[in-house]
Amino acid sequence: MQDIDTGNISTDRLTLPLLTEKNVEGDVLRLDKIHPLVSGNKWFKLRYYLEEAKAEKKTIVTYGGAWSNHILATAAACKLNKLPCIGIIRGEEATNLSPSLIKAKELEMELIFISRAAYGQRKIPERFDKSDYYFIPEGGYGLNGANGAASILNYCKKETYTHICCAAGTGTMTAGLIKAAQPACKITAISVLKNNAELEKNIQLLCGNEEKSFELIHDYHFGGYAKYKTELLDFMNEFYRQTTIPSDFVYTGKLFFAINDLIRNNYFQAGSNLLIIHSGGLQGNASLNNGTLIF
Ligand SMILES: *Cc1c(COP(=O)(O)O)cnc(C)c1O
Repeated sequence: MQDIDTGNISTDRLTLPLLTEKNVEGDVLRLDKIHPLVSGNKWFKLRYYLEEAKAEKKTIVTYGGAWSNHILATAAACKLNKLPCIGIIRGEEATNLSPSLIKAKELEMELIFISRAAYGQRKIPERFDKSDYYFIPEGGYGLNGANGAASILNYCKKETYTHICCAAGTGTMTAGLIKAAQPACKITAISVLKNNAELEKNIQLLCGNEEKSFELIHDYHFGGYAKYKTELLDFMNEFYRQTTIPSDFVYTGKLFFAINDLIRNNYFQAGSNLLIIHSGGLQGNASLNNGTLIF
């Protein structure tokens, strides 16, 4: 399997008529280009967890749903680092595994299915209650995850941007970006979950008393996590036609849609220069019907 290549990361300037009209500039930080499976922000969030587990010579155990980018990224990153790993998957094993789980299994992650109720209480099978396992929280949420995400900004000229925009699930990446951003920079995060009331608190827990300004926007979830509408898919196709930048329907498609809409509604002052984080996730489009997307 190919290695992670952070040398592929680019900042792609957006040349859309709307930006010119509003006198707003925008660059997309292409984290999606580092690896086809350990896509985007997942590798950044995992890097310090992996280093620790490797130093302690432990087997990694982590959690996720059947469609989780985090599970697949962990499986691939562990394979690359020659670390054994186990994925605890929410819900009973389906006869047809999702594409992510099939791939994770191919990468030699051991999959253990537990009931939704047990998962909800974070109950793990008895045998894991031991010190030879290294636990990574669901979605990589935790200080190591945020610190890893903070290193994302080493791959661009962060001092040139007035705003950093990203998609938020657990908020781990958002917390890392807040930590690493210049003091005057504003962070705008688009929540991809419906009514995630915990998000702000969860971000604050990870970034402590950073005095930086961030805003969470909850209006672009399109019905909830991994839900979508034709309007979103049409936008993703049109965005690709105009920019040649592919996006995924769970995270970055909603992010680009939101930023476009916010620019149109004058959310960003004229003269703003945005850094928009392409956090990857493209392999998740495999669950859409063939031909839905033009890329
Ligand atoms: C997981 C993921 C996110 C969300 O990251 P959090 O740190 O959980 O907020 C954003 N974009 C993509 C593509 C992801 O896979």
